Amino acid sequence: MIIEIKYKKQICEIGKRVYEKGFVAANDGNISVRIDENEFLITPTGVSKGSMTTDMIIKVDGDGNVLEGEYKPTSEMKMHLLVYKERPDIHAIVHVHPPYATAFAIAGIPLDQAIMPESVVYLGTIPVADYGTPSTEEVPNAVKKHVHNHQGVLLENHGALTWGKDIDHAYYLMESLEFNAKINFLAKQLNGDRELSKQNVARLLELKKKMEIMGESPLGVDVPDGTHAMKREMATSLSEKDIDTIVERVTKSILDAFNS
Ligand SMILES: [Zn+2]
Repeated sequence: MIIEIKYKKQICEIGKRVYEKGFVAANDGNISVRIDENEFLITPTGVSKGSMTTDMIIKVDGDGNVLEGEYKPTSEMKMHLLVYKERPDIHAIVHVHPPYATAFAIAGIPLDQAIMPESVVYLGTIPVADYGTPSTEEVPNAVKKHVHNHQGVLLENHGALTWGKDIDHAYYLMESLEFNAKINFLAKQLNGDRELSKQNVARLLELKKKMEIMGESPLGVDVPDGTHAMKREMATSLSEKDIDTIVERVTKSILDAFNS
C-alpha cells in the first residue's frame, strides 16, 4: 500500500529528527500513525529512533495485536492506542524525553503559564499526567484524564507526549512544547518568569471575542502583526477550554499582583 509506505518513511524521518534534536537517548521514544479507524503503524522497541528503516515499522490493530512486521512494538504502545481510541480526530502521536520538558515532568510542574503568547496559544496548556509504571495500564489511565482537553501531556517522572492531526503536527507540537519548557526554565533562572500584562490579557480576551463573532476569518481586524497567525492557530488548534484556562490563569495572576 502506497500510503503505508509513505507513513513509514515519515515515521523514520521524524525518528531521525527527534534523535538528532536530543529529544531521546539510545532506544528511547516512540512514534505512531493512524492508517484507518483500527489500524496503526508504530515504532519497534529496542531500536534507536535515529536509525530506523521502513521495514522495522510494525502494523497493529486497536487492541495492540501485531498485523504485520518482524519487530516487537514499543512497550509504550498502550498509551498511543488509548489516545487514538479516545480521539478519532487524531492521526499521529510522538512520545520522547526532551530534557527541559522532562525536567518539568520530573518536578511535576505543568506548562500552563502564560509567559509567551505564541507558544502558549499554539500549544495550549500542557498538564502533568500522574506517574504510571511504564507498559502498564497506569500510563493510559493517567493520560485519559487529559486527552480531550489538551494537545499533549507531560508524563510525570518520564517524558512528554503530543498528538496531532498528522505526524508533522504532532512533531511540531513536541518541538514547541520543549521550546516552551526551555524558555520557561531560562526565565526562571533570571527570576523573570512573569506572566502576561493586564493589557495583553485584555487583548487575548478581545481576540477570543472576535473569534467567536468571526469564526475563522481574521481578516480586516485591526490587530498588531503576528496576532493574525496567532488567532488562526487559536481557531484551529486551541480548544475553548484551553483559552479559558490561559485567560483565567493570567487574570488571576494579575489580580494577585494588584492585591499584594
Ligand atoms: Zn518513554
